[in-house]
Amino acid sequence: MIGRTKTKPLAPGATIGIVGGGQLGRMLAMAAARLGYRTVILEPQADCPAAQVANLQIVAAYDDRLALAQLAACDAVTYEFENVPVEAADTLCEHVAVFPPSLALQVAQDRALEKSGLNEFGTKTARYMLVDDDASLAEALEAFSGSGVLKTRRLGYDGKGQRVFRNFADDPTGIYASMGGVPLIFEQLIAFEREISIIAARGWDGTIRCYDPAENVHRDGILHTSTVPARIRASTADAARAAAFAILDALDYIGVIGIEFFVLADGSLLVNEIAPRVHNSGHWTEAACAVSQFEQHIRAVAGLPLGDTARHSDCVMENLIGDEVARAPALLAEQNLVLHLYGKAEARPGRKMGHFTRIRPIGS
Ligand code: ATP
Ligand code: MG
Repeated sequence: MIGRTKTKPLAPGATIGIVGGGQLGRMLAMAAARLGYRTVILEPQADCPAAQVANLQIVAAYDDRLALAQLAACDAVTYEFENVPVEAADTLCEHVAVFPPSLALQVAQDRALEKSGLNEFGTKTARYMLVDDDASLAEALEAFSGSGVLKTRRLGYDGKGQRVFRNFADDPTGIYASMGGVPLIFEQLIAFEREISIIAARGWDGTIRCYDPAENVHRDGILHTSTVPARIRASTADAARAAAFAILDALDYIGVIGIEFFVLADGSLLVNEIAPRVHNSGHWTEAACAVSQFEQHIRAVAGLPLGDTARHSDCVMENLIGDEVARAPALLAEQNLVLHLYGKAEARPGRKMGHFTRIRPIGS
């Protein structure tokens, strides 16, 4: 990486560019403001959630050359979603420090590279096969006894672009085409006991800090709740932290990462996927920790010391999807509840409109 990188921490008043203008960008911009920084959002949709709380929005496509040149004038650049075009990130890297590194983007954008990378870094994943036509799908079904999850290699989120197979129940003919004729990956169907994630951060000097693992429950493919502490053994939590250290060091990472795991019946872990950014399953940190994942990410990007990841409370974070945002006034009447709304005008089905976290004393 060339440009202004890792020389000295960003001074108050410096400007951080954020690619992507959703709720994650919004919460990053708020954390940046609290540390005295200015923020510029690059996002094609005008009046996006992040721009409402940032200093400036560049309304343009993520790969718009003029927009990237404008963003490169920032003191550092980060992003709030993993599908930033790698070429755009590389262009930015020529002029400005970009964190997390572009290698993390590449790995996270393609489920096949992600799985092979994770295995190379010493962590375990579900077994998998690549699917590029009906014939390779039939082979994968054969190899995995008719059960598994077929996913698009790129651009999946909230369970979109996925199809579950059980015991040869479906005829594979035409399924490849029906999933868009794009490169796919067939994963072994994991009979997990529960799902957890860990939010971790690595600073400029290589320091790593992990928050406690959260236990995640999905509904209709979308994260529903994250509960901390997760109901896991101490050895499972240790293994999650060890995986985070291995992945962050291997990627020479800077910033916050979200790592999702399947917990098996014997307490062992498989990594499901990594998100090189702040993560929905880490929103609870804003309510139950002194330093949230958003502030932690800004600290890492800015070259500041990482914050304490200890929890002062147990908690449950719940997403408000679509119409559920109408619950906000009733939720606000509750004690020990932190509500966060994203400033989205329209409550479409499946759209993340906000979240809330209920906190209670540790162990209560
Ligand atoms: P998100 O954006 O919510 O992280 P995603 O679209 O990137 O999701 P995944 O995390 O890969 O997709 O999968 C979504 C959910 O589907 C998982 O959290 C898990 O509940 C289930 N799932 C995915 N892969 C498998 C698998 N191989 N075996 C069993 N369940 C799986
Ligand atoms: Mg996931």
